[in-house]
Amino acid sequence: MDNLLNLIFPPKCLFCNRIGDIFCDYCLAECLLLNPQYCVVCDRKATDGYTHTDCKRELLPSQCVSVYLYSGKIRDCIKFSKYGPKQFSAMKKLSTEATAIAYEWDFINLEGYTCVPIPISIRKEAYRGFNQAELIAKTLSWKFGLRYEISILNRVKDTRSQFSLSRKERFQNLNASFTCLEEKVRGRKFLLVDDVCTTGATFLEAAKTLYLAGALDVKCFSLSKKVL
Ligand SMILES: [Zn+2]
Ligand SMILES: [Zn+2]
Repeated sequence: MDNLLNLIFPPKCLFCNRIGDIFCDYCLAECLLLNPQYCVVCDRKATDGYTHTDCKRELLPSQCVSVYLYSGKIRDCIKFSKYGPKQFSAMKKLSTEATAIAYEWDFINLEGYTCVPIPISIRKEAYRGFNQAELIAKTLSWKFGLRYEISILNRVKDTRSQFSLSRKERFQNLNASFTCLEEKVRGRKFLLVDDVCTTGATFLEAAKTLYLAGALDVKCFSLSKKVL
């Protein structure tokens, strides 16, 4: 059905208006790949995204890989101010392209890992209506032949106002952003997936939650990385 519609009304690139694809190959080719990769713990350059030996401690991800530099059209695609079917299609195309690139990188070994999207925040969901991390994680799991499970991590709904909490409670409130069920996690390996990695704080927090529930190993994958 999609193909037929595309034949009758060929899509126009959202970025350059060329007829043919919603995010055209010319525009995709302009997007900068992240090279080298970064250590998710200290946010400094690291070979193949492996956590530096000096940064390694308990409860930390072992590797973090991002495909694109968060800039230009990548940033625009992730940050569209309004989200409709066209923007969704552009994001889908970008996810497919990014995972195809990652598939060619020989330093990514994900055998036995389960893809888990980072749950969307309430603020983002209200604004966008869908979780981009889910779309990326689904695309990635398909390309790499991995399991995909959406119900592993839950975001703690922060409906309690910070105002009513004691100082200690406020800290805990900030600290425990995610929860998971031990019986779903124990003894397993996970790949956390997100759209943008900024400081890595979200990945670290989510990884800690999984390790505390008995995960064997946690790696991270983001479609793009904000380099500060
Ligand atoms: Zn274009
Ligand atoms: Zn480091």
